[in-house]
Amino acid sequence: MSEEANPFESLQEQIRDAAAYVDADEGELRRLSRPERLLETNLTIERDDGSLDTFKAYRSQFNGDRGPYKGGIRYHPGVDRDEVKALSGWMVYKTAVVDIPYGGGKGGIAVDPRTLSMAELERLTRSFAEELRPIVGEDMDIPAPDVNTGQREMNWIKDTYETLENTTAPGVITGKAIDSGGSEGRVEATGRSVMLTAREAFDYLGKSIEDATVAVQGYGNAGSVAARLLESELGTNVVAVSDSSGAVYNEAGIDAAGARGFKDETDAVSGYENAEEELTNEDLLTLDVDLLIPAALENAIDDDLAGDVQADVVVEAANGPLTPDADDVLTERGVHVFPDILANAGGVTVSYFEWVQNRQRFYWAEEKVNEELERHIVDAFDGLVAAYEERDLPNFRTAAYVVGLERVLKAYREGGTWP
Ligand code: NAD
Repeated sequence: MSEEANPFESLQEQIRDAAAYVDADEGELRRLSRPERLLETNLTIERDDGSLDTFKAYRSQFNGDRGPYKGGIRYHPGVDRDEVKALSGWMVYKTAVVDIPYGGGKGGIAVDPRTLSMAELERLTRSFAEELRPIVGEDMDIPAPDVNTGQREMNWIKDTYETLENTTAPGVITGKAIDSGGSEGRVEATGRSVMLTAREAFDYLGKSIEDATVAVQGYGNAGSVAARLLESELGTNVVAVSDSSGAVYNEAGIDAAGARGFKDETDAVSGYENAEEELTNEDLLTLDVDLLIPAALENAIDDDLAGDVQADVVVEAANGPLTPDADDVLTERGVHVFPDILANAGGVTVSYFEWVQNRQRFYWAEEKVNEELERHIVDAFDGLVAAYEERDLPNFRTAAYVVGLERVLKAYREGGTWP
């Protein structure tokens, strides 16, 4: 993994690349390439042994021209200002590409949650929720899960907010458990949109997805669900998967659901009995497969590694897994990359459905959630391909940013500048 690429600079470069094809002036672009607001705070909690510990935490509200800020909360030692700023910017263009009425935000705590007990994690999460309270709300900023956070953390944040505000406001956060106001289909939504994007991409490129070979880097929520659905719904052959413990390979197919079950039991995919071979993460990224899905963290593929990627198609489940230089190398080499802001947008799309259900106090069946999700992703895919073809754009990422940027600009211009 490249240490050099700064994700915020990557975001700015992606916006600049798209801006070359969009009618926008310098002042507008400056405004749309940096966050409107950034909270940086230090959270102090009592450890179980009575000592005190302090953790840095952030919330970036990048742009709210199209609606409330929306984006996840990440717990990871690598969380810092620039990462959070980048992730919040990617959310702006993601919500615009799938055309849901939100802006973009993102937050996180610089912590390795595995070093905390459950009680410490709860105190840290509630402390963050208290800091967030003045700037979040059902119509203001609506967080969601990201790396190392899930339903449990979302439920704690909702409960803290509602207790302090003396109200019920389930729509203040999404990705909650069903009994706390969550939506059917939310846990699977990101992996589902990755699967749908791969299906549409192969169809568009005139390739057969059935029996295609797939490698998946990162086996958490996004990666493992994508792998399972690719196998179960489309019949693709997932041959390799990895996590931070390493990678496993089986030419005949790994059994994606089995690998997830093994990881749930042992906390690692390494050692999975159905594997023929153990690989390094780098080996996995350069396997000769039809489809590569990076589903871990930013900068997984830099320009050096991009020269060795042998997959024909890359569908990004993670946010920002390619450095801009790697993107250029893959474009030159004719590898088709379908970008994060389309492919993993299922999470935020079903978060939107969760919020709609919370506001209406009326809940949908899973079939309706999946149907609506498919409609949003297929429409977004078609819009992106139309821009790519009609404007003769260099790649699908630029097409996605062109579509997103134009939607955000339109909303901004309609609202105007004040004062
Ligand atoms: P997660 O915590 O559930 O899983 C992350 C996985 O990546 C883990 O299996 C971890 O072991 C693995 N990993 C970490 N470093 C690695 C490395 N160097 N090599 C290989 N594997 C590594 O997180 P997640 O929610 O699945 O998120 C993964 C990515 O997807 C992130 O970029 C996140 O922003 C993005 N994403 C997630 C969602 C969502 O709804 N969960 C939505 C949109 C985007």
